[in-house]
Amino acid sequence: MKWKSHTAIARAISGEMGLPEDLERAFCAGSIEPDKRPDLAFRTSRSGRSYIGRAPHHQPPTGTIMAYAWRARRAYLDGNDYWAVKSIGRALHYVQDKCVHTGLGGWRHDAREDDIADLPPPRRAVLEGIGMAECSPAFVRECISAVRPRRDPRRAMYDATLYSSAIFASVMGPPEIEEKFFDDYDRAMRGHRLRYASAAALLALSAAVAATLEEPLFLPLGPLAAIAVVRMDPAYYKARDRAEWFGLQNGRR
Ligand SMILES: [Zn+2]
Repeated sequence: MKWKSHTAIARAISGEMGLPEDLERAFCAGSIEPDKRPDLAFRTSRSGRSYIGRAPHHQPPTGTIMAYAWRARRAYLDGNDYWAVKSIGRALHYVQDKCVHTGLGGWRHDAREDDIADLPPPRRAVLEGIGMAECSPAFVRECISAVRPRRDPRRAMYDATLYSSAIFASVMGPPEIEEKFFDDYDRAMRGHRLRYASAAALLALSAAVAATLEEPLFLPLGPLAAIAVVRMDPAYYKARDRAEWFGLQNGRR
């Protein structure tokens, strides 16, 4: 996407959220910064070798975007609004580029970006994005994965504005978590502890089976199953991430 489009989206969001002028400037600057100072990422060459190169903008790694969203959220909780909007700008640059279909080998891509640059970000998309936002890292991640490359310039601009607004509102959402969270967190925590208990039981069982049958092949199965039981606990990891999103350690105030 052209710089004109990136900054137009930033201004549209800033206007709706009522950012002061200096923060709007920082938000616009962040929104074009990845083109000036590129991020690095692990990439794979045609021959299958991996190397460190410029992070791609049209198929950006979700991790790169999430890292900036987290950085923005932490800065926001610390009261460093300047750094927060600068970082969220960088994250949104990738989200916006991801909305543009590059075509085969970049063919038609430049013409499409020219067409997009003529379009203003629709206010309806800003409002819809802010309206659908949930203040959580899981929501930001869902938005990033929902973004699809669009061939139609209007659709690309609409989606870029919609998801940028939603992510902005999620990161700059309420700094305090709602009271209900603490019950959910405790429940997830108890569930997770039970998983540790069943993992320990699996370990003991596999050791017992291996000893009784004198078959050491059974021995590694226990730890593998135990790791799987503890790892596969999405409710727990979601709650833990959510707690961190509000600056809480171990789910406590
Ligand atoms: Zn770019």
